[in-house]
Amino acid sequence: MKHIGIDIGGTSVKGIVVDGQKITAQTKVPTDISGGLESITKSIFQTIENLLPYVDENSGVGIGSAGDIDPFLGRVIYATDNLPGFTGFEIKKVVEERFNRRVYVVNDAVAAFIGEIQFGAAAGCDNAVMLTLGTGLGGGISVNGRILLGSNYQGARIGHIPLHPDGRACTCGLKGCAEQYVSATGLIKTAHDCGCESSDCGEIFERSSNGEAEYQKATDIFLNDMCAVIRTVKCIFDPECIVLGGGLVELKKYWWDALSARLDLNSEKLIRPAILGNMAGSMGAAYLLEDDTLITKH
Ligand SMILES: [Zn+2]
Repeated sequence: MKHIGIDIGGTSVKGIVVDGQKITAQTKVPTDISGGLESITKSIFQTIENLLPYVDENSGVGIGSAGDIDPFLGRVIYATDNLPGFTGFEIKKVVEERFNRRVYVVNDAVAAFIGEIQFGAAAGCDNAVMLTLGTGLGGGISVNGRILLGSNYQGARIGHIPLHPDGRACTCGLKGCAEQYVSATGLIKTAHDCGCESSDCGEIFERSSNGEAEYQKATDIFLNDMCAVIRTVKCIFDPECIVLGGGLVELKKYWWDALSARLDLNSEKLIRPAILGNMAGSMGAAYLLEDDTLITKH
């Protein structure tokens, strides 16, 4: 059955129509944060409206959203200022009332993880972890075939594991969190600390592979930090696989082999690149309308 899948981020709202595993329509609307919650809501409505001609009367809307989300109420527990006014927003209720359709809302990293579990790199794994290396560092964890949500829906915040006590200030208010090092933003900060002038991740890796010393140093520190996060996750969860996704994985030709060599954890099977790219979140969110056993209370 066809469903709409939406991925709400700080810069755009992406939407698809998915029929099983097949994407049959897609759209993207810039997230208008100029008017706070009111304009963000308009961006979400617009995304859904763009896709309505391609679905049936009974099709539902699955939503993956930035922020900490209570998936049972479909409510935002906490969102950063990337989405001003979003904390407390009842996404599920508002979208249901507007469109009179079934709605499911989960955190965006969780949605992407569900996509990879159902259709991608973590298929067939009951115990898996996903790290999303984008602007920040998102996380998803499944234990015995269920997504770990946490008692306040703030579980799997792998990006906020303390990596360097008293390190760089984080958006969460604490210091030294993993996402300040193991993310696109983190790589750029590390590069600047090493004396590199570039603020482009592709260029940083490229110049490192060309043998420029300060870029090599930055890449080296970045990979050591990533290894520390992966080892932490491995020690706690002993997963069947750890999927690495997000924008930095599109640059993996520069660093994947070096990471595997450092990890030495039978890493070929354990560490896997995500397959679904930036469609994972929308696909995972839409899948919940077919089957929500990954999320049900347990
Ligand atoms: Zn933090």
